[in-house]
Amino acid sequence: MVWPMQITPSVRARIGKDRSHSTSNSGEDWQTDKQTLQRERELQMVLRIPLRRSASFTPDHQPLMEMSNPTTLKMEANVLVMGADNVGKSALTVRFLTRRFIGEYGDMEFIYSHSLAMEGREIHVHIWDVPCSQDRVDESSAKEKRVQWADGFVLVYSICDRASFNVLRPKVQVIKAAKEALSQEKVPIVIVGNKRDLHHRRAVSSEEGRLLALSMDCEFYEVSAAEAYHGALMVFQGLAERICEAKLALKKGTGIRSIVKSMSAVFARKRTDSL
Ligand code: GDP
Ligand code: MG
Repeated sequence: MVWPMQITPSVRARIGKDRSHSTSNSGEDWQTDKQTLQRERELQMVLRIPLRRSASFTPDHQPLMEMSNPTTLKMEANVLVMGADNVGKSALTVRFLTRRFIGEYGDMEFIYSHSLAMEGREIHVHIWDVPCSQDRVDESSAKEKRVQWADGFVLVYSICDRASFNVLRPKVQVIKAAKEALSQEKVPIVIVGNKRDLHHRRAVSSEEGRLLALSMDCEFYEVSAAEAYHGALMVFQGLAERICEAKLALKKGTGIRSIVKSMSAVFARKRTDSL
């Protein structure tokens, strides 16, 4: 298995707070702006990619699978990262993309594109990191479109923050209902308990996390984005694989269904011919 760590240049970002419209001259605001700018610069240095200030729901990639050559199957996987504020959504995402932990990430919204090569497949993963503050102010139509856009979901909570754990069950229910409405029965979802290194402040046991995932038919991991890269790798790699399997199964099912349909049509015609 090959893991190219280079991030593709296609990155879209929305900065939660639009400084271009800021008119305040107070020293405090100026200081906050300076800190935000500094954080953006640090993040940019780590990611080695330009940040942009708009996010659109229209993917800039082909959503379908294609065969570029007989040996490589190219696939797309859209991943939405959700969860309460401060649980480490950005830390986990950046850890997966760069193997690094930079501490502070700001309140920024990104869509990252990243290529993975595994088992004869080239998977283009698009990861949408949505700040909770953004999710709160967005209209429900925007939230619905985000869920429709995604093929798989990473739902993060902090093991030190029970409230962040409690919000996950309703989130999974909303996702499942939205996908069922689109006739998608099996939705790849991973529940992640982050900040495992802070075990002395633990408020949610591993068992509770595992039970929630089991009852909602989701995958489960407990990780520390701060301490290790491996957990983030397991989360995103596992999800990308499950998304691809789901897409292939859907394609196969559609193929078989269309064969059955055309065969039934032929037999039906034969029966009417012989009458
Ligand atoms: P988000 O709001 O969910 O995107 O959270 P961030 O990724 O911005 O992280 C919020 C805070 O938690 C930051 O101060 C991070 O440094 C910290 N953090 C993130 N992951 C971990 C972790 O695994 N362990 C510890 N100790 N801190 C973490
Ligand atoms: Mg964040």
